Amino acid sequence: MAYKTTYPFTGEVLQQYDNATDKDLEQALTIGHKLYKTWRDEPVSDRAKQLQQIANLMKERKDDLAKAMTYDMGKLLTEAQGEVDLCVSIVEYYAKNGEKFMESVPVESPAGRAYYAKQATGVIVAVEPWNFPLYQVVRVFAPNFVVGNPMILKHASICPTSAQMFADLVIDAGGPKGALSNLFISYDLVAKAIHDPRVAGVCLTGSERGGASVAKEAGDALKKSTLELGGNDAFIVLDDADFDEVKKVSPGARLYNAGQVCTSSKRFIVMADKFDEFVDNLKEAFSSAKIGDPMDPETVVAPLSSKSAQEKLQKQVDSAIEGGATLVYGNESIDSKGFFFQPTILTDIDKDNPVYNQEMFGPVAVVYKVNSEQEAIDLANDSSYGLGNTIFSANREHAQQVAEKIETGMSFINSGWASLPELPFGGVKNSGYGRELSELGLDAFVNQHLVFEP
Ligand code: NDP
Repeated sequence: MAYKTTYPFTGEVLQQYDNATDKDLEQALTIGHKLYKTWRDEPVSDRAKQLQQIANLMKERKDDLAKAMTYDMGKLLTEAQGEVDLCVSIVEYYAKNGEKFMESVPVESPAGRAYYAKQATGVIVAVEPWNFPLYQVVRVFAPNFVVGNPMILKHASICPTSAQMFADLVIDAGGPKGALSNLFISYDLVAKAIHDPRVAGVCLTGSERGGASVAKEAGDALKKSTLELGGNDAFIVLDDADFDEVKKVSPGARLYNAGQVCTSSKRFIVMADKFDEFVDNLKEAFSSAKIGDPMDPETVVAPLSSKSAQEKLQKQVDSAIEGGATLVYGNESIDSKGFFFQPTILTDIDKDNPVYNQEMFGPVAVVYKVNSEQEAIDLANDSSYGLGNTIFSANREHAQQVAEKIETGMSFINSGWASLPELPFGGVKNSGYGRELSELGLDAFVNQHLVFEP
């Protein structure tokens, strides 16, 4: 596979990189393992201070980091800038709380004195996707840095420039060599790394296909893995929802990042009496969303990340319509060299439709009409995915009751999806396992080392 930056707005190849070799991998493993051994004897507070320096340099280099992401995968520059801000807050969160999270935990036992110490486990392999080139890396890098687990990064082949820029930044900010080794490696070398005894585990964010093959390698090698895969999140509008707020929030919940978010709202589930009004509002918002240059602050819908992403989405929408869906709006080609997809609204998707249980990774909203709350819950749960969902209700308790009935890892009440440093992020079912961010994310590759004295 070739690692290159192809600007999705123009289709132009801006940069290409040579693939890493076996030797590069061996070198990264050697320095990573050496660092792990040194870090074990150093206080967490030293690494927390280094993390803060990394955050400081990210603030200084915000514009460069943001532009690199836009060139790599086409996202709006304003969204890329917001992504850098979020990443700074994640790094600062672990710089501030890392020492506390790493404290030993006493265990009550009638048989004696017990506690568990939290310890690093070794080099972690991180396989990350292109949709949030910096955030996906930072949310695993920052907690593992403070824990003392060096990281080998295999980023998506379409966003090598932002990956390398962040790895260079870590060094420039005073981070030790080997703390984050970005390698342009093949799948075979990822597998080889996972099997290496110096590697303690692997985390992946991406597709089910990618997740399954990486988790299989991890299973064969008896290594821990965490997976954050796709989602087909429901946006449920209950009877007692503040409908003005629903109308305000719903378009953005689908269009942000050109719809390429695992936790985007993808299935809008609306009571029958509000269905037409909901669809009309979405149509109005989608048709007035400016499509175009991702560097222009007025643009709302950026191109998709790649030609293949555009083609895949087109096939899905075509198959949905062939399978009986009603096209309410969109699905017209955009006259541009960019990999655009017009915001699209589909209704009347029944259980037999090919896309009923597919994630559509782009600005395509599916709207369902239901007649009762139970029907809404059943429909939301009728998915192989279980990442997140959104519940709209003016009654918080009611919303919470419904939220807990949905088989997902996260629920967002009266808002679109959110990701904040202190909120655990992850799913169930085919959306993966494990959590990232928060203290739970820090614990993912920590050895909880029991010490007991009767
Ligand atoms: P992939 O799973 O193919 O890519 C994600 C990352 O995994 C990339 O770095 C990719 O490398 C790597 N990868 C994939 N397969 C392997 C393997 N066998 N061994 C080692 N590394 C591997 O996702 P896509 O980019 O193809 O996106 C397809 C779908 O994935 C989307 O339509 C969406 O459903 C889902 N997705 C979910 C995301 C999320 O945030 N949960 C983010 C992105 C995608 P490379 O780029 O070199 O192929």
